[in-house]
Amino acid sequence: YGDASQKIDYVFKVVLIGDSAVGKSQILSRFARNEFSLDSKATIGVEFQTRTLVIQHKSVKAQIWDTAGQERYRAVTSAYYRGAVGAMLVYDITKRPTFDHIPRWLEELRAHADKNIVIILIGNKTDLGDHRAVPTEDAKDFAQKEGLFFLETSALEATNVEEAFLTVLTEIFNIVN
Ligand code: GDP
Ligand code: MG
Repeated sequence: YGDASQKIDYVFKVVLIGDSAVGKSQILSRFARNEFSLDSKATIGVEFQTRTLVIQHKSVKAQIWDTAGQERYRAVTSAYYRGAVGAMLVYDITKRPTFDHIPRWLEELRAHADKNIVIILIGNKTDLGDHRAVPTEDAKDFAQKEGLFFLETSALEATNVEEAFLTVLTEIFNIVN
């Protein structure tokens, strides 16, 4: 987890979007600090968190932006998307409406972000599989149709969170190199 003294070769801005309570802040917290909380209030107000990692011998600082509650008011502004080279589009596998809203978020993203932005669709909370409301295949088909990467994660169990970020960051890295 990041060494402040190291030289940074790249800074990649990645934005988290999706309905409220799908787990965006906890996915970020898991990735940036390897922490998880069942009470997310602590993260409200934080604009972004960073973590520096090494990809193909280069140090990459991932600057991950969190909506910090703005999603409730449909008030994610264009400033939020400005300069973003990656996006994580998150829904909750136990809440069908959060998946049904994904096309809206994608539209929003495509309206405001760079057209070459790398996007991953994330179905979070796989630890609650007994309450699954979105079949994996539905999301996989949607992602394929829209040209998105796709993974299911659990911020709680730390399943696939690292993989999700690495997928986006490595793809961005490959585009700029
Ligand atoms: P946000 O509004 O999208 O930022 O969602 P939060 O990160 O604040 O999470 C909303 C709620 O879901 C909180 O109570 C979290 O603890 C919980 N949560 C987040 N990720 C997971 C997960 O992977 N599994 C479970 N069971 N709960 C989660
Ligand atoms: Mg949040």
